[in-house]
Amino acid sequence: MFTPCIDVDEDEEENDQIVSLGYPSGFQTEGDCTVSRIAGGCPEDVVHPRCPHCHEMMLLVAQIYAPVDEINHRHLLIFGCNFPTCHLLTSWVVIRVETPIIQQQVVVSPPPTSKSIFDTSLWVQGSNNDLEDLLNLRDLNLSKKSKKKKKNKITSRALTVDLEVDGEPLPTVDVNGIAHVDALMRRYREQELESAEIVSGGGKEDEEKGSHAQYFQSRMERMPEQCLRYAYNGFPLWPCEPFDFKVPPCSCGLNRVFESQLVPGILWQLEFKCKLEIFMDWSSVFIYSCPASCNSSCTEYALAISPIK
Ligand SMILES: [Zn+2]
Ligand SMILES: [Zn+2]
Repeated sequence: MFTPCIDVDEDEEENDQIVSLGYPSGFQTEGDCTVSRIAGGCPEDVVHPRCPHCHEMMLLVAQIYAPVDEINHRHLLIFGCNFPTCHLLTSWVVIRVETPIIQQQVVVSPPPTSKSIFDTSLWVQGSNNDLEDLLNLRDLNLSKKSKKKKKNKITSRALTVDLEVDGEPLPTVDVNGIAHVDALMRRYREQELESAEIVSGGGKEDEEKGSHAQYFQSRMERMPEQCLRYAYNGFPLWPCEPFDFKVPPCSCGLNRVFESQLVPGILWQLEFKCKLEIFMDWSSVFIYSCPASCNSSCTEYALAISPIK
């Protein structure tokens, strides 16, 4: 579970932004809605989005479980277009789903199970359809491809990958490298603050090309298996020189805040663990969401960043 409870103090060292990382847990749970996952099926009560550009079914890339209170489950479903003809970086849809947490009732004859989770009947229904959705998506992929060229066949059924959550590890101390890493961190911190200004309209030109990619890489190396980063109301980790973009406000009028970031480790998992043929390519996907998790809209904003060259 990702917990959105972080106060970001810009006077502190850059490294003090508390970031949680999602990484493959190595095991798979069935129907537990409190687990974040890679891939999966669209819940029954959510309309599976189609790409706004090619109008094909989008791939559910990740499901992030991040409740903001004790009343509702809260998921971010992150869909991206996977078709090779549709490399537009804006082919992303984020749907926020909140469902009431139903407290466990007293059961007279408890079933013989060791599982103890919330009643997630709604979500479980979705989970039961996971495989069907994925197979439909796979069939769609295959039928589309067979019209063009026969490519690698998907040899096994698509799977999901459960994510475990942990704080980002501190950098390992390297007698030779620590000074360099410190310098990179300082420079990155300055640029990160500048990028925050860029988003809000200000900012200066960044002359240190490459430093972002290097620093990004050093943060990936702290936990190479990381698939997503979570820092609610924090900052994204830029894999490249920050550029100007505007996050549209939520329909309730509030400015969306940064919440999470998909990193390239997820592409590897989709392809080799979930057995999906992946055509999408990016270095990061930034997710911004309504700070009030309001009811006036259930969609949030995602921006994909080009692959690092
Ligand atoms: Zn598309
Ligand atoms: Zn809102």
